[in-house]
Amino acid sequence: MKYLYLLGACGSIGTQTLDVVRNQPTNFKIVGLSVGSNLNLAKELIEEFHPEIICFRKKEHIFPLSYEAIIVYGDEGLIEVAKYHRYENEWLVNALVGVAGLAPTVEAIQTKKHIALANKETLVVAGDIINQLIKEYNVSLVPIDSEHSAILQCLSGEKHEQIKRLIITASGGSFRDKTLEELKDVTVEDALKHPNWNMGPKITIDSATMMNKGFEVIEAHYLFGIDYNQIDTVLHPESIVHSLVEFNDGSIKAELGVSDMRIPIAYALNYPNHFRQEVNNLDFSFLALHFKELSFERFPCLKFAYQAAEKGGLYLAVLNAANEAAVYLFLNHYISFLEITHIIDKEINKLEYSRDGIPSLEERLKVSKDVYKNILKEYGVIL
Ligand code: MG
Repeated sequence: MKYLYLLGACGSIGTQTLDVVRNQPTNFKIVGLSVGSNLNLAKELIEEFHPEIICFRKKEHIFPLSYEAIIVYGDEGLIEVAKYHRYENEWLVNALVGVAGLAPTVEAIQTKKHIALANKETLVVAGDIINQLIKEYNVSLVPIDSEHSAILQCLSGEKHEQIKRLIITASGGSFRDKTLEELKDVTVEDALKHPNWNMGPKITIDSATMMNKGFEVIEAHYLFGIDYNQIDTVLHPESIVHSLVEFNDGSIKAELGVSDMRIPIAYALNYPNHFRQEVNNLDFSFLALHFKELSFERFPCLKFAYQAAEKGGLYLAVLNAANEAAVYLFLNHYISFLEITHIIDKEINKLEYSRDGIPSLEERLKVSKDVYKNILKEYGVIL
């Protein structure tokens, strides 16, 4: 039995994680949940799974339950859930969006929980620190993303020194067939229509700008210990090949499947086993797979990710915070789609973030907050 603490239960990854849990009721037990502002869904999930500890986003969201549970709220509440400890073999499933997911991951590791990670920002902002902590506390970290799940499966039984490169596929997001010129007046509604995957608004925009792919490159670097110059990306509109690994002898392994996030979620929770679940069959009779270069010119956010990674220090935190702020501004109609790129470009080229040595977790969280707040303030948004 694995005891699960699921952060972000009402989101896309959260609800699909609960589907996987429903399918394996004797293998998983939900001990903790954090819920968002969809209170009807929150109520349903809480009454179905009866978690011992529940974190609401805001105090005013709290409603009475039919049973006794520990109730917490806000960012501190997320930490309380991450720290809660009653069982052996506890797992934190982190499906939060944004840098808000980082501190709970750190707390959970320090409480000796294993981590199933869908929160990209944890590794983007603090991949080096997280890797040290999982070693120190001797816990596992398994990715939930489809691309990293694919790479993990391709690497099963392989030797690290024989890897030539990782190739991460990208669907291209909602605007993959548009030129830069055509992106000038796309709307929020257009951007939120992802062709292959049904995801939350933040990650759907990140997919359209390709920042999502940039983040995945950074995550792959930390998850698999591979240099950035050995991590490539390729456009693959069908999202059937979830990623590939090339080895020194020229052999290439890929993982394929339908676009259903329950597959990587189930693999992460059962790692390294493939537990039976009902998903659509991949129909090979009409299957055509296409691949195309992902150009830095067309998708500058991908370039920014490599640049920030190369600069190191605080720049990955700055990259993420500038992106979070820019996506917020776009989703709330303050800026156009192309301005997302300009805001990030400007921020990661500022010299004021250079530091000698490795910045602490506190410094990274502080710069994240400051950059986010300052960018929003420039557009008249006061939080
Ligand atoms: Mg992905």
